[in-house]
Amino acid sequence: MNMESGKLDFPASQTGSLVTSLADLRVENSYAGLPRGFHTFLQPQPLGDPKLLHANVEVAAILGIDPSVLKSPEFLQVVSGEQPLPGGRTLAAVYSGHQFGVWAGQLGDGRAHLLGEIITPQGPQELQLKGSGRTPYSRMGDGRAVLRSSVREYLASEAMAGLGIPTTRALAIVVSDDPVYRETVETAAIVTRVAPSFVRFGSFQHWTGKAEQLRILTDYVIDRFFPQARESSAGEANSDHQPILRMLRKVTRLTARMVADWQTVGFCHGVMNTDNMSILGLTMDYGPYGFMDGFQANHICNHSDTSGRYAWNVQPAVAHWNLYRLGSVFLTLGLEEEDLREALSSYQDDFLQAYHSNLRRKFGLQTWLKEDEQLVDDWWRLLHSQRADFTLAFRTLADAPVDPQAFLKLFHDPEPARQWLHSYEQRLQAQTFPEAERRESMLRVNPLYVLRNHLAQEAIEAAGRGDPGEIETLINLLRDPYTERPGFEYYAQEAPEWAQRLEVSCSS
Ligand code: AMP
Ligand code: MG
Repeated sequence: MNMESGKLDFPASQTGSLVTSLADLRVENSYAGLPRGFHTFLQPQPLGDPKLLHANVEVAAILGIDPSVLKSPEFLQVVSGEQPLPGGRTLAAVYSGHQFGVWAGQLGDGRAHLLGEIITPQGPQELQLKGSGRTPYSRMGDGRAVLRSSVREYLASEAMAGLGIPTTRALAIVVSDDPVYRETVETAAIVTRVAPSFVRFGSFQHWTGKAEQLRILTDYVIDRFFPQARESSAGEANSDHQPILRMLRKVTRLTARMVADWQTVGFCHGVMNTDNMSILGLTMDYGPYGFMDGFQANHICNHSDTSGRYAWNVQPAVAHWNLYRLGSVFLTLGLEEEDLREALSSYQDDFLQAYHSNLRRKFGLQTWLKEDEQLVDDWWRLLHSQRADFTLAFRTLADAPVDPQAFLKLFHDPEPARQWLHSYEQRLQAQTFPEAERRESMLRVNPLYVLRNHLAQEAIEAAGRGDPGEIETLINLLRDPYTERPGFEYYAQEAPEWAQRLEVSCSS
């Protein structure tokens, strides 16, 4: 993993041999080495008659696991929680957090079990089961996750990875007929998630006022993930506060870039509580998320978010607010408020830099000019006023200067779109990019396939009938969402009318 570039490198396969038994993996348990109070050692509660619905060959390769292992009883036993990861120490971790802006106190892995970390050439990767039973942090919950939300998490992790957006990954999904009681009776599933770490802002918040434990967690995270924060540049003071401030600057940058990436693919997280914010700037805890179909700036993807706290256009500000919650924890270690503020102060610039850089490429521009802000503003206004399809508007823009048909078709009233296109064409004339190159470059950054709610819904329904085919199809398309594949036109279409009635909520 390369934290410096802000992106995680997940090569399709790693060099070196792949293990043909999980027992041959190199497994460590660094998180388990933290003192008592950070976690509870316990075993998952397996599901009745678990079946492997899908396993991810690409993520297995990252972990150094041969595809043949994915079909073995040994693999099913581990990803269904029946057996520990060989060499792993299974635990549930504690954390706290702000939910919808309100301090919620202690939360923690209420339905997740960390199995241990696999040492790979790219660094350690933790394996975590979600939906694997009750823990001391379950509060009123049943420790389970329903098939619906598990398929959604599985698909979203891989869709984000395909878009090059930092995210936790998903290795496998296991299903069972065990009933789970939500608004209706549903069935249970377990997703195996993969990430270098599942530490959240809320993991730090948990130790507000507890200097000793906060120091331990901070040292753990800096040593493992931000070792550069220990190095002082010439002339810089190196008090024991400095590494923390450097870590915060880095987390600020990673978080800003992650949210900029969300904004420019039309992704809404849905529950940006501080306990769902990764310290590594990974998109995590996929619940009622959504990739927008028709663009609406204030789109709310989570039906339970009645006030629109986590609407699309509020996400950048919420992330900054969350960073302040993280930063203020370190008052406990005697850091000055002013220094903490300073460490988080680059957020807006970091965000805008990444946001403009993404947009520059999406619009096929060679450089970003101040005036481009107006062009983009007008673009959002145009899309918003007609709820034009987010993904297809960007995708069809590549060809629009030559052949505007497909682009204009996305608008009920094409006249304002034509006008905008006119100013866009003028902007293009001010640069020296050969047309063919501009077009090509745009098709490489504007996806054709995106994990639309209705596509996820169809995959869920098929999965409910025991058919993983749609999951397989979506994973294959979303792994490389930029390359048009003949025969898959259905997956590149605007959402059908019934998709508007789909509601996703916190219920999971
Ligand atoms: P989430 O909304 O999934 O991010 O979860 C927020 C908190 O509630 C976390 O501490 C979860 O572990 C916990 N939680 C959510 N659903 C359940 C459940 N069904 N059983 C136990 N804990 C849960
Ligand atoms: Mg969560």
